[in-house]
Amino acid sequence: MALRLDGKALSAHLEQRLSALIADHHDQAGRPPGLALLRVGDDPASGVYVANKEKACARVGVTSTGVHLSAESAAGDVLHELQRFNRDPLVDGILLQLPLPDGLDEGPLLTAIDPDKDADGLHTLNLGRLLKGEPGPRSCTPAGVMALLRSNGIDPAGKRAVVVGRSILVGQPMALMLQSANATVSVAHSRTSDLATLTKAAEILVVAAGRPGMIGAEQVSPGAVVVDVGIHRKPEGGLCGDVRADEVAGVAAALTPVPGGVGPMTVTMLLVNTVLAWCHRHGIAHGLDDLIS
Ligand code: NAP
Repeated sequence: MALRLDGKALSAHLEQRLSALIADHHDQAGRPPGLALLRVGDDPASGVYVANKEKACARVGVTSTGVHLSAESAAGDVLHELQRFNRDPLVDGILLQLPLPDGLDEGPLLTAIDPDKDADGLHTLNLGRLLKGEPGPRSCTPAGVMALLRSNGIDPAGKRAVVVGRSILVGQPMALMLQSANATVSVAHSRTSDLATLTKAAEILVVAAGRPGMIGAEQVSPGAVVVDVGIHRKPEGGLCGDVRADEVAGVAAALTPVPGGVGPMTVTMLLVNTVLAWCHRHGIAHGLDDLIS
């Protein structure tokens, strides 16, 4: 049976570290770290995600400030809130919850966020910093995957890694992080022919295609490490990923569960980016280098 790569447990452990760091340096900074969360429209899943992020902030001692704009908001209204957060000295991290309602283009809005307050690591400058191996806030989901691999003693160096999906949110930064950890990386997408041959060659397989249950045992090499980024609500209730976990658990050496794998790590890395920005602003030695890919 595959080793369970337990994101929930690691995230609880990392929250304790963050909480202790904040408590130890609160007096030096004169205030706790602050995260501003901006939600636009009424996408129900986004509402749940934002609420989870606010709860996580409360658990570690980060002050969260939520602003909810209506679905009819113009780009200028969203921009106004982002600029207000950029100027606010009590805000270290800013998150614009995606997806935005139809008619709002996320690109220019994400770029309007101060790159040093970019809690999601999606600003063009920060993606460039990742590409060049320079320090900066990292995209939360792939950074969470890297932390999960590292904490389970899985070193990508010299391994064949395959990332299924090439989104800016997950697939592309995931491939860059695995490559900078010295894996040899292939990226698959919807136009990839003979996907199974590629995935079967993977020693580390990260699936972020957004297709429920698309990867089964026949597409996985025995002994592979499989990371399931996908998250879907099943019609009959409950959640599932892009991987058919019941099958793949019998073939893979290690597998992330859904839920409880990558999801909790994504939220934790949002906190890490915020706390790191707070540390940089106040000259605090953070000791979180093991979490920065
Ligand atoms: P996305 O923007 O829709 O990108 C999906 C990618 O998968 C695209 O690059 C697409 O290829 C590729 N793809 C789609 N069908 C494919 C197929 N049959 N074979 C190979 N590649 C295929 O999605 P995303 O934002 O990256 O998210 C992916 C999944 O992760 C979703 O289920 C999302 O909910 C989940 N997610 C989870 C977390 C978490 O914290 N657990 C965080 C973020 C996202 P093309 O580029 O050719 O279209």
